[in-house]
Amino acid sequence: MIDRRNFIKWAGVSGIAFSSAGWSLLAHADTKTASSTTTATAAVPTNTGIKGRVVVIGGGMGGATVAKYLRLWGGTGVDVTLIERDSAYTSNIMSNLVLNGSRTIGSLQYGYGNLSSRYGVKVVKGEVLTIDPVGRKVALAGGASYAYDRLVIAPGVDFDILPGLETAAAQAKVPHAWKAGAQTTALHNMITAMPNGGVFVMSIPAKPYRCPPGPYERACIVADWLKTNRPGSKVIVLDANPGITAEVNAFTDAFNVVHAGVIEYHPGVSIASVDATTMTVNTSIGNIRGNVLNLIPPHRASKVISANGLTNTADGRWTAVNVLSYESTTAPGIHVVGDASATTQPKAGHIANQEAKVCADAILRLLSGRAPDPSPHTNSACYSPITATTASWLTANFRYDATTATMVPVPASSGEAAARSSKNFEEMGKWFTALMGDTFA
Ligand SMILES: Cc1cc2nc3c(=O)[nH]c(=O)nc-3n(C[C@H](O)[C@H](O)[C@H](O)COP(=O)(O)OP(=O)(O)OC[C@H]3O[C@@H](n4cnc5c(N)ncnc54)[C@H](O)[C@@H]3O)c2cc1C
Repeated sequence: MIDRRNFIKWAGVSGIAFSSAGWSLLAHADTKTASSTTTATAAVPTNTGIKGRVVVIGGGMGGATVAKYLRLWGGTGVDVTLIERDSAYTSNIMSNLVLNGSRTIGSLQYGYGNLSSRYGVKVVKGEVLTIDPVGRKVALAGGASYAYDRLVIAPGVDFDILPGLETAAAQAKVPHAWKAGAQTTALHNMITAMPNGGVFVMSIPAKPYRCPPGPYERACIVADWLKTNRPGSKVIVLDANPGITAEVNAFTDAFNVVHAGVIEYHPGVSIASVDATTMTVNTSIGNIRGNVLNLIPPHRASKVISANGLTNTADGRWTAVNVLSYESTTAPGIHVVGDASATTQPKAGHIANQEAKVCADAILRLLSGRAPDPSPHTNSACYSPITATTASWLTANFRYDATTATMVPVPASSGEAAARSSKNFEEMGKWFTALMGDTFA
């Protein structure tokens, strides 16, 4: 198992690691300023000789990073337009800590001012409805259209509707809170309104879903709060997977020891329907009632992908990409990074940031008539609070494997923490600040 010192080295707690591809392009671009990535003095090199128009859809973890690094590495000849429907990004990462009141949703919001003022990204507020892959342009809800040489789509995920939750009223009573925002605050309010001896029922969809450890982390945070504040309460976890999907040691210990008697974990459970009036979930292990229902539905690539015929995996949910460039395997000129693409890497914000850098590097090479870097590396790190003051962590490093044309884990530098600790909890804050700075500052 990877030890703590190596984890810190790989996870880049004091500064997020670049993909090797990024560094090699930096050398190619020959710019003095490009290596200062997260500071207010970061500047766009004036001219690298690379020219092109890139439109990026979605200003989340993947989209904001790709827009920033296209300019930082590509210079002023690369015209980058980022189209985002919201005026600020709300981080999902750390949003479970809104549930126990230790963070607010407001503290997780990031604006787009730095991307435009420091890097010269043209930020447009709007929702992309249509993509014309032949004419190479996208159109917004209001009708405005933007032409591109290369398009990057990073819109995140959408969710299936569970039977019984078709109406907005039913969905409001049973929030998934798996896209941080109003639902997260609503779920926090529901938890604080629970009586002593209450029941919190949550579900986990079958893989792949965003943030593999995230639902188990949520169970721990809610159980920890209820134990102190609503004695006698229970957290019932209904997992569609055959077992815990990430940080198995940490969460097995958390469920069986740290939160024993509070968390009831049921693997391999499917949900047939939900009755939001009686707050009952009809499952493969019977009907289960709760004071609060927090059901996380199965995921798919966000609507702008499916509505424009860009899903191409066998299950019809995701976009398969060439992981040397994140270009769709079926739609030339269109790159998909982050949760919406299907790769062997986890759907996670840290990985979205890394995929975005590999993609930015590949686009700049393609715009200058070169091939993408043939051997990219990526890294993912994730801290999981187990209580209000202790956390565990997980990291994975990936390298390109030419035989399978996939990113494969590097076992020597992948693994989970030996034990939860308050030191990990403290480092979690530094990792989060570094990651969000690398993406938005
Ligand atoms: C509770 C929770 C905890 C998590 N914790 C971690 C963690 O500890 N570590 C980690 O690495 N990851 C974590 N994640 C996962 C992480 O948040 C996602 O994997 C990551 O945000 C994916 O990045 P993305 O760019 O693909 O999508 P997002 O970050 O969701 O960004 C998508 C953006 O696209 C915009 N958009 C969508 N469609 C359109 C359109 N048509 N037009 C314009 N804009 C559009 C959206 O408004 C949004 O801003 C967590 C997730 C959850 C839910």
